[in-house]
Amino acid sequence: IPLSNATLHQLPIQVTTPRYDRQKTTAGIAHLGVGNFHRAHQAMYINKVLEREGHQGWAIVGVGLRNTPREDRRAAIMAEQDNLYTLTAFAPDGSHETNAIGSIIEYVHAAKDRAAAIKRLTDPNIKIVTLTITEGGYYLDAEGNFTLDHPDIKADLARDVPETAFGLVCEALRQRRESGTGPFTVLSCDNLRHNGKAARTAFCAYATARDPVLGAWIKENVTFPSSMVDRITPSVGDADITRLNALNGVADQMPIFAEDFTQWVIEDNFCDGRPELETVGVQFTDDVGPYEQVKLRMLNASHSMLALPGVLMGYDTVPHAIEDTLLLGHLERFLAEDASPFITPPKGVSLAQYAQQVLHRFRNPAVGDQLLRIASDSGSKLPVFLTDTVNGVLGSGRDHWRLAFGTACFLEYLRGTTDQGTPYTITEPAINAEQLALARAEDLAAGLQMTVFAGWNLKDHPSFATDVVKIRQSIRAQGTHKTLAQHAG
Ligand code: NAD
Repeated sequence: IPLSNATLHQLPIQVTTPRYDRQKTTAGIAHLGVGNFHRAHQAMYINKVLEREGHQGWAIVGVGLRNTPREDRRAAIMAEQDNLYTLTAFAPDGSHETNAIGSIIEYVHAAKDRAAAIKRLTDPNIKIVTLTITEGGYYLDAEGNFTLDHPDIKADLARDVPETAFGLVCEALRQRRESGTGPFTVLSCDNLRHNGKAARTAFCAYATARDPVLGAWIKENVTFPSSMVDRITPSVGDADITRLNALNGVADQMPIFAEDFTQWVIEDNFCDGRPELETVGVQFTDDVGPYEQVKLRMLNASHSMLALPGVLMGYDTVPHAIEDTLLLGHLERFLAEDASPFITPPKGVSLAQYAQQVLHRFRNPAVGDQLLRIASDSGSKLPVFLTDTVNGVLGSGRDHWRLAFGTACFLEYLRGTTDQGTPYTITEPAINAEQLALARAEDLAAGLQMTVFAGWNLKDHPSFATDVVKIRQSIRAQGTHKTLAQHAG
């Protein structure tokens, strides 16, 4: 059965359809970057909130920004399917639940008509603009400053009708200010540290470069709440589409799938109102920082601590690697003895339970993430995920072996071959040739001079370097598995 408003009532019983009348809803949120994650996360929460009395004004207008074949195709499918799609959530035990999500009621392909997209954002009913434009989409440098001299941004600032997320939003805000419509909230849902602050920096810098008065008005009137978003949502290949449609009995041209776990914690700072998301499982807080800390230092860090040795050992996916009890035990100890002691959890959060939950999520075979995808861009990820833990462990004189092992595995992983001699491709946009040469140098300690480790104070802790070198030698002599086994045993 193809998916559209007309066929919603004919869908197989196992597909839950919207429990509200889509025709009666209007858009109160505009979302920029309608990728898989938005469709599995924010649009799912809004799909639930639309069932609530008095919430029919909070549906979503999706905005596609990029002029790519993938986005052209998405716009065409959205039109054919009345913006409907199926989301299948898989639990670690293999059970699943499928929902036809109806919360996106309109789709504007900004790349094809920028003026129309800006006009849509000036509608007074649009009270929130949410974003998933990827980490790189914020154009921030290592110090967190917006790169006004980036060619994309320079070109956009010179256009009469801009095309970047910053250009569209700032132009809409300019018109809203002039017409007296007033501001909307800008809510980043990207995986960045302090994403609200990052968004504020980027949008205000862009607006100020266009018009300092507008920049000042945005700083004063627009709010940029931070949010912590969590739900593992893999990319969808052709085989996944076939598998999902066979499972659901629907001919959906863009189905998505995700783990059953989901979390969204938002700073309660909305300048123009918000839906009652707390009634559908969203947590509101004054400070997202502690939640972000737990997620980055436990979930994301253990993903890296698993993927780097896992790749060397020749494993392919997260669930396969974690079936190895040696790696499982390694992660358990990393979470309990290295990461947890230096985290101040949010009130009511048990780190021991969180650790168990992380390991449980990694076992989910249905969302089996590729280890190489998790390991990719470790050059950007390790400073964010591990620096505070390393500083805590080294500073307090605790056993640093697991962190030295992770570091040694990272440096060995950069050589691009498994212990069995199978080559693989590394994707490390943040590591240039000079830096890579340090990792691959004959002197096995040279890799520690890479900028990745700049915040680790390693010169004050020479025994860490000694251990990294010993572990690297051992990995080369007897393999990663034996090296870990000898230490663990
Ligand atoms: P995706 O590839 O499906 O979608 C990315 C979207 O961002 C696309 O619509 C793309 O056009 C748009 N985009 C990319 N670069 C852009 C730019 N420079 N300007 C404007 N738009 C741009 O990926 P996804 O899985 O939806 O992930 C998107 C983001 O969501 C991630 O980068 C991450 O920050 C966040 N996130 C994802 C997950 C996950 O498990 N997939 C989990 C937590 C957070």
